[in-house]
Amino acid sequence: MFYLTEQFFSIQGEGKYAGVPSYFLRTGGCNLACPGFGATYEVDGELRYGCDTYFAVDSAYAKSWIKVEDSEILIRTLKDEFDKIGYKPHMVITGGEPLMYYSDKVFYAVVKWLVEEDVQITFETNGTIEIDFETYPAYKSCIFALSLKLANSGEPEQKRIIPQALKNIQTYAKESFLKFTIDKELVETTAIDEINQIRDILPELEVFCMPVGESRDTIWKNDRAVFEFCMKHNFRYSDRLHIRVFDTTQGV
Ligand code: SF4
Repeated sequence: MFYLTEQFFSIQGEGKYAGVPSYFLRTGGCNLACPGFGATYEVDGELRYGCDTYFAVDSAYAKSWIKVEDSEILIRTLKDEFDKIGYKPHMVITGGEPLMYYSDKVFYAVVKWLVEEDVQITFETNGTIEIDFETYPAYKSCIFALSLKLANSGEPEQKRIIPQALKNIQTYAKESFLKFTIDKELVETTAIDEINQIRDILPELEVFCMPVGESRDTIWKNDRAVFEFCMKHNFRYSDRLHIRVFDTTQGV
């Protein structure tokens, strides 16, 4: 059993495959909370801090998540969706943290079916979950967008950087790349040292950096600094197209 918070057809807004029409499955729940990312929301009158997908992270929203207990039902829905779209789009499995469910029977059955259907899957992951690629070989055919968290996430290093989990993905996955969400302050302080520390673990992976900001009103405060940071260090700049186009609207 796993939780889905939303599913929709859109365009990948960030990272290496920005601009690619993609079908999104967003799972519910995360093993991190990232209170440093500046999104504020209220639960029962209490102000909480999180990331821009707090509605898929905080279990206070679990009542609105869908419990997926039968892989066949989700597979049938996906077949119908692909028929409506007219082709099998790139699939992005995101969260929360989708790999929390990697060994779940129902979740794996859906991933395996997609791989057998030659659907290209990208997992958007925080890279902290150690996958057993031998027992669950379908993951070898997937792409992993490793959206590792830096100090600005507000999470302690030992929780957000798990070297063995990262090395496994670099070794076994068909493709993986690094994606960092950074702000102006981090650019001016520890970003390069923190990224280089991670590159010592994953020296082969391309680096994409994108600006912190959960809305049009906030993203502009960081985009130029990140843009110039990428030029200086030969990293790829990734914008966040869905925020530019749709602002804070969910499910697009
Ligand atoms: S790891 Fe990702 S989904 Fe989880 S809290 Fe942090 S930013 Fe949000």
